[in-house]
Amino acid sequence: MDVTTNLEEIQTNIQRACAKVNRNTNEITIIGVTKYVTIERTEEAIDAGIIHIGENRTEEMIKKYNHIKDKATWHFIGTLQSRKVKDIVDKVDVIHSLDRISVAKQIDTRSTRPVDCFIQVNVSGEASKHGLAPEEVFPFIKELASYQNVRVVGLMTMAPHVEDESLLRNTFRNLAKLRDSIQHEQLPHAPCTYLSMGMSNDYEMAIEEGATHIRIGSKLVGTNKM
Ligand SMILES: *Cc1c(COP(=O)(O)O)cnc(C)c1O
Repeated sequence: MDVTTNLEEIQTNIQRACAKVNRNTNEITIIGVTKYVTIERTEEAIDAGIIHIGENRTEEMIKKYNHIKDKATWHFIGTLQSRKVKDIVDKVDVIHSLDRISVAKQIDTRSTRPVDCFIQVNVSGEASKHGLAPEEVFPFIKELASYQNVRVVGLMTMAPHVEDESLLRNTFRNLAKLRDSIQHEQLPHAPCTYLSMGMSNDYEMAIEEGATHIRIGSKLVGTNKM
């Protein structure tokens, strides 16, 4: 399927989800996750109107970045090792996966400007998942105040791979509540306005629960490396 057709379907679904809960579609940012696909397919997505590109590996992001440069806004959505921060920090616009002080320290010292970061939260408590436990998030954010180049713009989560709608909804709802409580503190380094949640299989529900950034790979660009 061409990206334009996929994108039209996604936009229709976004409109429906927004209408259900009285939200405006312009509150939603679609991040096209291109980790499965080629540079050519990524360029097709950009031609179709996708502005935000998400990658989860530093090498792959750099490869695509070197071709596409500032024709896209770059989101790093994968696990980030401290020693690799320097490779991407001046290429990336937004980091969605901050959950360690060692990484924050590297962002702070290696970047030449403040970087917008989401804190990754493991809401569902699955052992296999990265991210902070919900109760660790506020102390972590307070600690980040001393890092000038780290700006906490929101919270991110990956929902569990389950069919159980109420479990998914609870995951999204709990992240939204946590975001509200941090935003309420009005910390200068942590406006914490946004919610990065929702992927191909659950983005409509995530939007109903307040997502501002949805990360869509397979339903937008497919998974075919060729
Ligand atoms: C792969 C990935 C996505 C996109 O997944 P799809 O189910 O293909 O939409 C979103 N977020 C993260 C962190 C990912 O690694």
